[in-house]
Amino acid sequence: MQIPKESPTLALDEKAKKLQAEGREIINLTVGEPYFNTPKNISNASIQAIKKHFTHYTPTAGITELREAISKKFLEEYKIKYDKEEIFVGAGTKYILYLAFQILCKKGDEVIVASPTWSTYVEQIHMAGAKVVFVELKSPFKLKAKDVQKKISSKTKIILLNTPSNPTGATIDEQEIIKIGKLAREKNIFIISDEIYEKIIYEKKHFSIASLGEKIKENTLIINGFSKSYAMTGWRIGYACGSRSIIKSITSLASQITSGVNSIAQMGALEALRGNDTEIRKMIKEFEKNRNIAFDALNKIKKLKISKPEGAFYIFPNISNLLGKKYKTSTAWAEALLEEEGVAVVPGEAFYSPSYIRISYAVKTKTLEKGLRKINQFIKKSK
Ligand code: PLP
Repeated sequence: MQIPKESPTLALDEKAKKLQAEGREIINLTVGEPYFNTPKNISNASIQAIKKHFTHYTPTAGITELREAISKKFLEEYKIKYDKEEIFVGAGTKYILYLAFQILCKKGDEVIVASPTWSTYVEQIHMAGAKVVFVELKSPFKLKAKDVQKKISSKTKIILLNTPSNPTGATIDEQEIIKIGKLAREKNIFIISDEIYEKIIYEKKHFSIASLGEKIKENTLIINGFSKSYAMTGWRIGYACGSRSIIKSITSLASQITSGVNSIAQMGALEALRGNDTEIRKMIKEFEKNRNIAFDALNKIKKLKISKPEGAFYIFPNISNLLGKKYKTSTAWAEALLEEEGVAVVPGEAFYSPSYIRISYAVKTKTLEKGLRKINQFIKKSK
């Protein structure tokens, strides 16, 4: 197997943490996780699970109650019925994506991916022996079916969708999802739709390709998880919904690698779906406020080109006007920002879009405001 590169987002986060450990005040805007703690009702459900000795192996695809709760969610929110045999619960969506690419791809296959994109997709597709075919998007990063269509070849195996997107925060419009679904059916192309930021969406409501009905199920894998929407990144739990045959293959593969997910985390995830979501709604409101603060502040900086994210918790300014002799790449620019101002952001190279930086606003508002002031200062200084 081709050994992948280390996740660049994690590498920068680590560098910022190292400087912090050395005593520097660092404003870390690289993070891909809410600063909120997991809601108490979720943690308590897991504490109860330990107390009740719910600590044995569970079925590889996840406990029945959790798969039933996921099934109920899809029926209520998207009016589509996934039986429990069409649902797999795994140790984080990253892991499930890996299993899916391993199962679906063979050497020489092509996977269509919109860029800017999360580097994990690219590395995992390569690990499965397949080739990534990018649809390159410019701000405001709206994926259109006609641009996907241009990239389809006889080798196209999968179209990958991610809405809302990491790193741009853009969503794919409903009309385009419908057209992409139709295109995939006509050409017999599989769809993987990563909807992990489904709940973190502002002016609009998330539209899942699962809403397109029974037919789409055969050729689509919906990926989702608890990390982002429920502030549960460390719990490592995600899920996938698809046809019985793909879920069966994913389950078989997982049964030889990890077995079922941590039993205690599954009880927390069950409470996340069944319980009160007041805390979560508060968190999303705060992210919306932070999104507005970040957009307003960055939009005032003339040298940046920027679009307003519709979801997730990232903003993705174009810094090409700031690159040149002094800083040739966004990595060099981000390194200087970290060293001089103590602000960590992720350079666009990590997302196959070298003229950009990704700023995460899933931090406390005060931290974000301070970071934005320092970014402004750095830009003024480096004129
Ligand atoms: N999908 C996207 C688009 C992400 O941005 C991330 C995390 O950054 C993940 C999946 C991974 O989530 P998990 O914690 O469930 O592995």
